[in-house]
Amino acid sequence: MYDIQEIRKDFPILGREVYGRPLVYLDNGATTQKPRCVVEAMTDEYYNVNANVHRGVHFLSQQATELHEAARETVRRFLNARSPAEIVFTRGTTESINLVASCFGEAFMREGDEVILSEMEHHSNIVSWQLLQARKGIKLRVVPINDRGELMLDEYERLFNDRTRIVSVTHVSNVLGTVNPVRRMIDIAHAHGVPVLVDGAQSTPHFAVDMQSLDADFFAFSGHKIYGPTGVGVLYGKETWLDRLPPYMGGGEMIRHVTFGHTTFNGLPFKFEAGTPDYVATTGLARALDYVSALGMDNIYSHEQELTRYALERMRRIPGMRILGQAGERDAVISFLVGGIHHLDMGTLLDRLGIAVRTGHHCAEPLMRRLGVEGTVRASFALYNTRSEVDALVEGIERVAKMF
Ligand code: PMP
Repeated sequence: MYDIQEIRKDFPILGREVYGRPLVYLDNGATTQKPRCVVEAMTDEYYNVNANVHRGVHFLSQQATELHEAARETVRRFLNARSPAEIVFTRGTTESINLVASCFGEAFMREGDEVILSEMEHHSNIVSWQLLQARKGIKLRVVPINDRGELMLDEYERLFNDRTRIVSVTHVSNVLGTVNPVRRMIDIAHAHGVPVLVDGAQSTPHFAVDMQSLDADFFAFSGHKIYGPTGVGVLYGKETWLDRLPPYMGGGEMIRHVTFGHTTFNGLPFKFEAGTPDYVATTGLARALDYVSALGMDNIYSHEQELTRYALERMRRIPGMRILGQAGERDAVISFLVGGIHHLDMGTLLDRLGIAVRTGHHCAEPLMRRLGVEGTVRASFALYNTRSEVDALVEGIERVAKMF
């Protein structure tokens, strides 16, 4: 049973008011709210366990290490990865992508080699490759989208050549809501002998992902977008790839032996985890993954899909409404503009009604250029949103529209 009122009680912040109105939080694509169990697990660790991991022989250090490594196992299970050695803790999607661009680029790319991206990438999956471009003279090739906001797969296939070294593509667009056919894209890339990095920042919170059936070579996501704490994320990588990459940062934990003359590196995944990890946040992330798993990712998916359908149906009836992104397969994200109303005005006035939405370019300026807009208003749903919150959004938009 998916009892939305019971579920909402797990998220204390949803009970608060802004400007004297009940909060309607629809900025979940940016970050999600946290259930009590996540915050409590972290508080409990700070109050009762706290000690640095992997280092001490003492009781607390061992207990903290057990919690941290248990969290890694929880992530492994959540992704259905083969081994915990494939789970690298990072600060988030951005760091995970930068790690791959930097280390893969270092090991396997030279001047003139190519990475395939898409027109709907988040800046984190563009700029990381541009930094490599500046260092090594690699080339960025871009898969275009059609007018519905779907990737053009025939164009994608045409981009492969003997200089293609890697594909890096988002699973779900944070602007259009488009769910990309990454399984097919991975098959196509593999047929060319090319590995694929999938940006899972916007997919993991909304539907089940399975590394073994997806067959991605690398996969990135952020804890804070899936009801976990800020400052922690994951890079999944197939062992065969991670093994062949050089380390990302140097420091404690990632080494086996150090002399001034020579250093040998630790095994996976520790080779990529220099310094003290945010071991309290990894506990929080594990609790968040337990939380969504107990609700059932399929139930969350159904709930959010139903909500998105309902929202689209109601929003399309608003005069002057333009919804950006009409993909056949879409997720719980709706970008829109109404008449000539500036996105910032719409967002600011909705805010005064207690409705939190995102406005702007959503860290996807190349996509904005393709759409011919400067920015959009974005409503993005989470497992705790309700139909009445969609009603509040629709009525809020109508009210703002009347003012113009
Ligand atoms: N990729 C996508 C598709 C995103 O939506 C985001 C966050 N907006 C990111 C990457 C970056 O995530 P983070 O800021 O958590 O590193």
